[in-house]
Amino acid sequence: MSEGYTGVKFTTVFKNKVPPHHPDLALLKEWCRIFHEKGLAPPYPGGSYGNLSFRTDRGSFIITGTCIGLKDTLGDDCFVEVHDCNITAKEIMITGIRPPSSESFMHFTIYQNRPDVQAIFHGHNQHITQNAAKLGIPETAEEVPYGTLELAESVKEILGTHNFIVIKEHGFVAMEKTMLLAGTLASDWLEKTV
Ligand SMILES: [Zn+2]
Repeated sequence: MSEGYTGVKFTTVFKNKVPPHHPDLALLKEWCRIFHEKGLAPPYPGGSYGNLSFRTDRGSFIITGTCIGLKDTLGDDCFVEVHDCNITAKEIMITGIRPPSSESFMHFTIYQNRPDVQAIFHGHNQHITQNAAKLGIPETAEEVPYGTLELAESVKEILGTHNFIVIKEHGFVAMEKTMLLAGTLASDWLEKTV
């Protein structure tokens, strides 16, 4: 990774400044914990490299907030419901008390282009990232800065019907019909690399 974390690269529009509520939030918290424990979302001072989300039945998705340490016990206030993104204005409309994950544009783009995807788990793991070619995992064409529309676009370009891809020199994305399938997919790929 050539660039350290310097914050989100969009404007957050708080539609409702309260923590989001959803019955599946408990499961998302559980996967955040598992991702941390397996080394799929390594910590940095003040957060973790990785962001996890699921699609709701109300036209939104719920994602980890920015600067959330996945090693910590997470309350509902650590998560953000994303209602919409204005790509041109670089604005994200949310319910929550903090900005959503820096990679919200990427999650938004995937949900828009893949109606079959209900959960997106993005993590960082060198074993996976460095072995993408060897393992035959689809990989984005070139390294681009994190949190940008450019990154979301580079993912969209190779998305197809793949459920597991690598963002070049950055991380991986597991996308599935359920959180269980997305989490299991990421864990399975990790096992193949170590
Ligand atoms: Zn990342």
